Amino acid sequence: MADAGSPAPADTLPAAPLPMIREPVAPRPHVVLVGGGHSHVQVLRRMMMRPWPEVRVTVVLDTPVAVYSGMVPGFVAGQYRASELEIDVVPLARLAGAEVILAPAVGVDPQARRIPLEGQAPLAYDFVSFDIGSTVAGLDLPGVRERARATRPIARLVREIGTLSESFLAHEAARPFEVVVAGGGAGGVELAFTVRERLLAAARGAGLERALRITLLQALPEVLIGFPPSLAMRARRNAAARGITIRTGESVAAVEEGRVRLESGEVVAADSLIWAVGAGSLDIFRDSGLPLDERGFVLTLPTLQTVDDDRIFAVGDCATLRDWPATPKAGVYAVRQGPFIADNLRRVVAGRPLRSYRPQPDFLTLLNLGDGHALGAKWGTSFEGRWVMNLKDRIDRKFMRKFQVLDDGGGTTGEFSRMDRSAMEAMVCGGCAAKAGQTTLDLALGRLREELGAGPDGGDGRVRLGLEQSDDAAAFATPRGDVVVSSVDWFKAFSGDHWLNGKVAAANALSDLFATGAQPRYAMALVNLPEEQSVKERAETLYQLLAGARSLLDDRGISLLGGHTTVGPELTVGFSVEGHPIGERLLTLEGLEAGDGLYLTKRLGSGVVLRGVMLGQGRGAWLQSATAQMVRPNEAAARAAVAAGLCAATDVTGFGLMNHLAEMLRASRVSAELDVSALPALPGAEELLRSGLRSTAHEQNRRIAKAIRIEPEASHHPRLELLFDPQTAGGFLAGVPEAQTEDFLGRLREANVEAVRIGTAVPRPEDGAVATIGRGSP
Ligand SMILES: Cc1cc2nc3c(=O)[nH]c(=O)nc-3n(C[C@H](O)[C@H](O)[C@H](O)COP(=O)(O)OP(=O)(O)OC[C@H]3O[C@@H](n4cnc5c(N)ncnc54)[C@H](O)[C@@H]3O)c2cc1C
Repeated sequence: MADAGSPAPADTLPAAPLPMIREPVAPRPHVVLVGGGHSHVQVLRRMMMRPWPEVRVTVVLDTPVAVYSGMVPGFVAGQYRASELEIDVVPLARLAGAEVILAPAVGVDPQARRIPLEGQAPLAYDFVSFDIGSTVAGLDLPGVRERARATRPIARLVREIGTLSESFLAHEAARPFEVVVAGGGAGGVELAFTVRERLLAAARGAGLERALRITLLQALPEVLIGFPPSLAMRARRNAAARGITIRTGESVAAVEEGRVRLESGEVVAADSLIWAVGAGSLDIFRDSGLPLDERGFVLTLPTLQTVDDDRIFAVGDCATLRDWPATPKAGVYAVRQGPFIADNLRRVVAGRPLRSYRPQPDFLTLLNLGDGHALGAKWGTSFEGRWVMNLKDRIDRKFMRKFQVLDDGGGTTGEFSRMDRSAMEAMVCGGCAAKAGQTTLDLALGRLREELGAGPDGGDGRVRLGLEQSDDAAAFATPRGDVVVSSVDWFKAFSGDHWLNGKVAAANALSDLFATGAQPRYAMALVNLPEEQSVKERAETLYQLLAGARSLLDDRGISLLGGHTTVGPELTVGFSVEGHPIGERLLTLEGLEAGDGLYLTKRLGSGVVLRGVMLGQGRGAWLQSATAQMVRPNEAAARAAVAAGLCAATDVTGFGLMNHLAEMLRASRVSAELDVSALPALPGAEELLRSGLRSTAHEQNRRIAKAIRIEPEASHHPRLELLFDPQTAGGFLAGVPEAQTEDFLGRLREANVEAVRIGTAVPRPEDGAVATIGRGSP
């Protein structure tokens, strides 16, 4: 035996420091991209080609879809479908490894290094880049905002252009339908030509005779200023050939009903006014303290950094280059800045010198005339013809192919389909899809009951809902006789938007109390912060989670009292919640009776939609719908159920509709007949399920299929799999006796809650099937 002073024997552990498993790592810089414009989509694409794991990138979007303006005139003319000019930035960002926040940025606070967001907590950044485009100038002229169709936001123009054709077709007056296009730049000229094609085609398609007059008003002495003069001549010649009037030196002073008043005092008839007078600045930088040009665009250096703050970058229309202030606000510049901003963001993070961007002195201009012809200009000369339109079409489509991840049918396009997604596919879903399976729970609880018995209930029968029941919440009476309803629920974060994770986790936890007919009063947070985050990141993550939760709890008078925070491998968030019964008695699983209608208040499919989005296979719009539903607690449904005197309810979460319903059916000793075609689906859920995609928990949820009867006509129905899809903060499922149906549904309608009858409770069949899934009226 060695004494204390002798050297360590060879088999003792080395004296090297032990790895500090829970110590935070070096902070990962947070780069925020605000807007999914022409430059930022290139940053994302380059991240796909060259991953950037040492940096956390978040894209902030006011809307998931960015519209490529170069093809908008073609869309107006009817040459393209809307989807052909849209870039869904959400799948692009996911494939690039970036997180997405769907909330408009409303400013920038350079001192605090935060981006204020509409409706949610400000987002902290280390470096931020803005590519948010512009608005159209002159919107404050009298009547313009109310009466004109503005070219910005361009997505709205695309959405609303159909109404122009409707007005034209509905125009039955003897005089021609008057369209005025204000603005003689490239956009205005293209729109004057392409609107004409759209309207004439609409009249032809409807078999109607309609007279049309188009007038282009330009304040400057000539159209297409800044382009070779011969291009303007070509535009004039083509306009004259098509009966389009061009009036130069004419400025609009005001817009009135059916007419436009010019500064000269003249009044011009206008059944429709298209406002294309050039770019105006968005007011996002107004209160930032950053230097702006005289029109309100933020000033930038050749490095694309803002003049006074080298952590803030701005590209495209929203910025004016200090050294080249006359650079036009045109997509071609935003496109050329893409590689520079992508490169400079990497360089600034790495502390390397930045590259300088110098605007190209000339570029290829191609103007779509809407009838298969286009005008073009380059190097001081101009040209026109069908070949010019073919060239434009080829260039535009090639550009779009680089960014359109999904096709119209939801399939993955071209090179994106060849990307290796195995690492992403191996990732376990977040949200309630990460719940331990029903079988795990049944096995453990069954053994607990068997080996340890029911357990003490305080000895005085005060436990109303405990381990003996499988209800959504526990309930017990205090010594003074008040009933307390309590539950706890948490999940693995499903989004990089931690404010959203917090809000949905709160809605999800409250759902258990609402399903029991209880009003929550207090909440405690249970958070596990990722060990790979630095202290600063963890503090920000925790703040975002709790702020998101508070945005939902505070409004309902529910106090967040405290909680417990740990550090571990992954981010989990949840709440323990406590409250009191809303009415005289609680809603339970066991009150269902044969004949009760089964009503569900939310659409199914959040599990597969979140999975799809995670893998870059889900559309941004699908994420938006799923999110809007998940943050809505089931409060109104619980109140309606209690007021209507219902007995049986549950909430649909991680086990999927069929397992949650099965719990109700077992507890109530009945069965159910469900109509598969009545199952309400979230947008995108059916498409993704049909493609074979499944959320992580789907297969374990599907084990219940052995206990249900699926009629042949339902077995191939695209909605069948919705029964097993795990839901995060899913809907309220209630059994509603015939006599109470009108009352219950009336109350839901008043509260603006949609409910769908998915089936009926029936006596247990002889074969013992938990439920029968058919296809027909429930
Ligand atoms: C009808 C028409 C045709 C045109 N045709 C051409 C053409 O052929 N060639 C050409 O070079 N130029 C053309 N232009 C001009 C061109 O549209 C713009 O110069 C170009 O879109 C600017 O690109 P961008 O990247 O700066 O911004 P955008 O392309 O406008 O992209 C900005 C993005 O940021 C998002 N966003 C905005 N605000 C926020 C916010 N607060 N928070 C988060 N996200 C936000 C928007 O949804 C948008 O997706 C045309 C313009 C019009 C109106």
